[in-house]
Amino acid sequence: MEDAQATVLYIEDDPGSQRLVQRALQFAGYRVVLAARGIEGIDLAFKEHPDLILMDINLPDLTGREVTTHLRAAPEFRDVPIVALTAQSHASEREKALVAGATGYLTKPIDIDLLPEQVAGFLRGKRERLAAEVAQKVSAEYHQELVGRLESKIRELEQFNEELRRLDKIKDDFIQLTAHELRTPLTVIHGYTQLLRNSEALAEVAAGSPEIASLVEGLTQSIERMGAVINEILTVSRFASGRIELSLGPVSLEDLVEEAVKGYAPACAQRRITVCCPPAGWHIRLNADGDLLLLSIENLLSNAIKYTPDGGAVTICVEDQNEWVQLSIADTGIGIDAEEQQRIFERFYTAGDTQLHSTSKTAFRGGGLGLGLAICKAVIERHGGKIWVVSAGRDEEKMPGSTFFLTLPKPAAADIKRSLLARSAPP
Ligand code: ADP
Repeated sequence: MEDAQATVLYIEDDPGSQRLVQRALQFAGYRVVLAARGIEGIDLAFKEHPDLILMDINLPDLTGREVTTHLRAAPEFRDVPIVALTAQSHASEREKALVAGATGYLTKPIDIDLLPEQVAGFLRGKRERLAAEVAQKVSAEYHQELVGRLESKIRELEQFNEELRRLDKIKDDFIQLTAHELRTPLTVIHGYTQLLRNSEALAEVAAGSPEIASLVEGLTQSIERMGAVINEILTVSRFASGRIELSLGPVSLEDLVEEAVKGYAPACAQRRITVCCPPAGWHIRLNADGDLLLLSIENLLSNAIKYTPDGGAVTICVEDQNEWVQLSIADTGIGIDAEEQQRIFERFYTAGDTQLHSTSKTAFRGGGLGLGLAICKAVIERHGGKIWVVSAGRDEEKMPGSTFFLTLPKPAAADIKRSLLARSAPP
């Protein structure tokens, strides 16, 4: 038969009808592709370029008419027959289908014996038409129906959004409450371990059994790590819920970098990583929250160290760009793939193995929760700045490295003075 190899897309949510029509058309030599929902049908139509579309009208998401109108608007479907399947009793359904752009219609229940020939007829050019005055009247009704459906969908979405916002707030409150509740006893435990660590009793015991001292050291490190994780969770969830107020004041960027570098000096020495800083004396003052900015620089520096093998290098550069200052932290580590370079700034996003960073010859354990960069981004953007990364990709053999850039607005001298005065003013 002439249309034997034609592809028919059948958009129908009832599996029984799907099977029946598929079998009948396949038996007649057609290739049949199926979609159960309107959106899926649209996607499949653009993918498969069918020769004819059989369209059920009552679909669970978009109606068959809406799918038809959508497809008709695309040049590639202007001449493709779209045949609506409508209930026999509703003449207005059929008229609306034609107004929406259908070539014709078949009434349900489908007569399986006649179907292949009916499909062939539409493929040969059969077309149903409406009288002009009927088309005009039905078209007005169809447009009203579309606007009504659009309005009710928007209302539904607004309600969903409202509900999502409410749930999101409950989640943020829960995270903050839990983190607070964990932090309080942890502070006490940390205090006890410090007492134990510094006690003469421990020194005496450790003299006879050195492993005791290393057990206490391990305990202290784990508690400090746990404290850091809880603080990260608290900071990120406060930013997410907009509950962070920046405490702005005059800040020397050079001092912050120096402090961060000093903090990581023991880790760098242990792993033979050299950190190269710009020559001292850059005198760049910012109007910023010093603690949060320090936290961000520390996060970037600790990542640079974490993802660089032993013996590597971290280079910090600063560039004064009139109204902006740009800080960059480059490493000689594993690098980051192009498709990950945006996503790593999302909350809880980690690229690769979070348990063990094998890039380090000392198998440096460091994978965190994927919150550090989310915090950096939130802090920098709240200061009106930008943060991004440049890397040639992740390669554990070649170690292409990554460079993180951040830019921050430089305040006018008057702003710094005002901020200094505000700080020194009596409460
Ligand atoms: P984490 O605590 O897991 O390091 P971050 O938010 O700081 O979380 O980083 C997210 C992910 O970005 C990391 O899991 C890591 O895969 C990648 N990443 C961050 N910094 C670097 C870097 N300097 N080199 C390579 N990968 C990095």
